Amino acid sequence: MENCLFCKIIKGEIPSAKVLENDQVYAFRDINPQAPTHVLVVPKKHVSSVAEIDQLSDAEIAACLKAVKQIAAEESLSDGFRVVSNCGPDACQSVPHLHFHILGGRKMGDRMA
Ligand code: 5GP
Ligand code: ZN
Repeated sequence: MENCLFCKIIKGEIPSAKVLENDQVYAFRDINPQAPTHVLVVPKKHVSSVAEIDQLSDAEIAACLKAVKQIAAEESLSDGFRVVSNCGPDACQSVPHLHFHILGGRKMGDRMA
């Protein structure tokens, strides 16, 4: 996707603070962190959101969640963390490339929305 911000980040055309990379997944720190740890995990293949997840292989989907688990461990989020994937306008998704927010390092609010 030529004009996708996260595709450009994956390709290195826009700088990012990389946290993890493998064949299927790229993860980097959110530019506007909402918690002490705020990392975005994205599949390298462009799909817009969870609503298009059937365009990914099972291995690519699994790789995203395995990356979440690995990053949470590496960031020492042993007291817990939140995983969020905004999907579409009602969820205020602002970048239309599937991503999972990992939020941790402090107690989260007890309301999710
Ligand atoms: P969404 O609102 O789509 O769920 O989340 C998009 C996230 O991408 C936001 O938390 C926003 O701060 C982050 N973001 C937007 N532009 C950039 C950027 O250029 N670099 C990084 N690292 N994060 C970005
Ligand atoms: Zn993209």
